[in-house]
Amino acid sequence: MLKPGSTIGILGGGQLGRMIALSAAQLGLKTHILCPDADSPAFQVAAGHICAAYDDEAALAELARVSDVVTYEFENVPLATAQFLERHVPVRPGAKALAITQDRLLEKSFVRDLGIETAPFAPVDDFAGLEAAVASIGLPAVLKTRRFGYDGKGQVTLRPGDDLHAAWHAIGAQSAILEGFVTFEREVSVIAARCMDDAFAAYDVTENVHRDHILHTSTVPAAVSRQASDRAHAIACKIAGALSYVGVFAVELFITSAASGEQVIVNEIAPRVHNSGHWTQDGAVTSQFEQHVRAIAGWPLGDASRLGAVQMINLIGADAHDWAKILAEPGAHLHLYGKDEARAGRKMGHVNRLRLDGRVSPTSTC
Ligand code: AMP
Repeated sequence: MLKPGSTIGILGGGQLGRMIALSAAQLGLKTHILCPDADSPAFQVAAGHICAAYDDEAALAELARVSDVVTYEFENVPLATAQFLERHVPVRPGAKALAITQDRLLEKSFVRDLGIETAPFAPVDDFAGLEAAVASIGLPAVLKTRRFGYDGKGQVTLRPGDDLHAAWHAIGAQSAILEGFVTFEREVSVIAARCMDDAFAAYDVTENVHRDHILHTSTVPAAVSRQASDRAHAIACKIAGALSYVGVFAVELFITSAASGEQVIVNEIAPRVHNSGHWTQDGAVTSQFEQHVRAIAGWPLGDASRLGAVQMINLIGADAHDWAKILAEPGAHLHLYGKDEARAGRKMGHVNRLRLDGRVSPTSTC
């Protein structure tokens, strides 16, 4: 169990690392960030930082030396980096969660083997493999690179009549999976945490809307049935236990409404705090960032109860120019990431619009 005054090392210096650092500071903990980008938003709010590549072993050794525990804000941390650090300092969540969630084929297989629904999928290693996968899965389908895909990058939707060669080259002719196309009613996510003594706490299910493959809004409560929300929580709990997970994570889910009834289907797991959990900063008793810090510090989890109805809207690119208008709005909480340049498609901040309803929803445990 970390004592106040201890240091958390964070791999990654983006907005997620920044918000973890802010929550750590609130709890009397220091943070030390390692990131190759000299302009990292997290550097502005941390006690210390190292500007170096993730595979720079001297820099990693220095991070391990100054840290009591190391965590990460993105799932594409090289596995060798996590393994190197693990020899010197506890890394939470550990390398197992990274190894599985970095690879869509391992991830989907892991989820399916737990008896949890996924879209039908097949591995694709070469062009002949793509033809075979299309024959077995059928079209429409989604072709996704096994690694390094995010915000819709590295994926192509295939419809009947589409040119398979073009799709294969569009994803860079690399190892991939083909997933059956899910005609979903809504996209939701569960943000949850597990700590070292196995305690588990999940936030209310969040409904997510994407624009141009980037998360646009997250809304709680989500318009889903009690059964779907219970199923989503049970799925998160099962995944956390199977990974012996420590920290906050997200499970992205599709909700379908087939004639046979509503289905909850896992799309992917993010082994980190998540954009669709930003509403918890103003709309839950404990934010996802504080929860993550508590879990990796070996502290008890906080209360994940929701305080009211919340809509989180990402401020992408020029949206952030509206900051003054948002500040004047009752019930709106503005969060800006300290980034200089409001480039198109860049996440500059978010706003949580909160309507307190005087009730708290109980924390879900398992
Ligand atoms: P991903 O990178 O896997 O999170 O996918 C990005 C987005 O593409 C998701 O949020 C969905 O909107 C869409 N998508 C991904 N996989 C599928 C699928 N199998 N069927 C339908 N839509 C999908």
